[in-house]
Amino acid sequence: MSKAAEDLVLVINSGSSSIKYQLMDPESGMVAVSGAVERIGEDEGGIEQHADGETVRQRSTIADHQAGLRLVFDTLTAAGYDVVRGGVCAVGHRVVHGGEVFYRPTLIDDTVIAAIRELASLAPLHNPANLAGIESVCELLPGVPQVAVFDTAFFHSLPAAAKTYAIDAKIAAAYGIRKYGFHGTSHEYVSGRTAELLGRAPAELNQIIFHLGNGASAAAVRGGRPIDTTMGLTPLEGLVMGSRPGDLDPGIVPHLVRTAQLDIDQIDNLLNRDSGLKGLAGVNDFRELQRLIAGGDQAAELAYDVYVHRVRRYLGAYLIELGAVDAIVFTAGVGENNPQLRADVLAGLTRFGIDIDPAANTAKDRSARRISPADAPVAVLVVPTDEELAIARAARQVVAERP
Ligand code: ADP
Repeated sequence: MSKAAEDLVLVINSGSSSIKYQLMDPESGMVAVSGAVERIGEDEGGIEQHADGETVRQRSTIADHQAGLRLVFDTLTAAGYDVVRGGVCAVGHRVVHGGEVFYRPTLIDDTVIAAIRELASLAPLHNPANLAGIESVCELLPGVPQVAVFDTAFFHSLPAAAKTYAIDAKIAAAYGIRKYGFHGTSHEYVSGRTAELLGRAPAELNQIIFHLGNGASAAAVRGGRPIDTTMGLTPLEGLVMGSRPGDLDPGIVPHLVRTAQLDIDQIDNLLNRDSGLKGLAGVNDFRELQRLIAGGDQAAELAYDVYVHRVRRYLGAYLIELGAVDAIVFTAGVGENNPQLRADVLAGLTRFGIDIDPAANTAKDRSARRISPADAPVAVLVVPTDEELAIARAARQVVAERP
């Protein structure tokens, strides 16, 4: 018996070698099924799916994204969710780069597909993979509405002074060079949840949000709209990340070309895969970094110090840009789960009204919560992000509003 899926949204995050998915109810946030296909295009890939308290794991060779999605649909059907015959209300796709063109969730048609393809020059590692997911769904679920939700969209209206790079203006205009910002779906969702938790209207609040996961970014949000963010033309700028360096002197690139004879692909690889915590300490996962630190590894300690230093640099910058801050919010894998890091980032800032309550900070509590003392002028919060829910809600709304 197939379970009713026509009210559910299938959310797809299609990466270069993986497809993460959730089948969920956008009203309640209930996740019926979640799963991931990994190692697409490699000798041995596989799928892992959680549905109704059961986990299924299967290994096989997955040639490409379409084969991966076929496996997703077969595995969903085996769990009782036949989305091919039973249908879903919509498919929501995370799309990394929306360029200047896309700044709200968008119903996908051939024109939109062509525009996302054109934006691949701005996000060569991400947009083609997102597109592979979209085109596979077109083939396998014809007739089901698909909606693209862009990681850059929230930051579309960044003030000119924040989004402009000080390079030759003609070159910047010709090649679309500006700060776009990423993780926008998360920053928007978390800033909205923070306002809810504080019982205030978003329009009344100044917030600094730290999304610290494998990728990491910060945003300064005034009255519900971002006024600055750390990621830029690409997701390389800003904070130190698992395997990306964040801010660098751009002079490093020509220096490496001249002295180390690195070519453009090697530099791309160095900056996207072999830098950040991985470059400094050999591991990109924060838990592993902490294990190394506990064992006295000095390179890991330095990596941690560099990471914290960068977060504090942006905290200071955004405090000044906002003028006054009501809430500082931590989210994503590291931000939600690492009390030591939160304490180190906010250490010694009582004179700015910023303080945390050690017991609240270290409490084993996974829900959204305040971790500053009740009387502290600045609310510090941990707010779990839920990009999938935000995408599912956006997709459902676009489908409901379509002519
Ligand atoms: P992404 O979605 O960007 O891949 P996540 O938001 O899942 O990343 O964050 C991954 C990071 O969060 C890893 O560095 C991991 O070590 C850290 N992390 C995840 N869960 C925990 C946890 N329970 N305790 C400490 N760190 C965690």
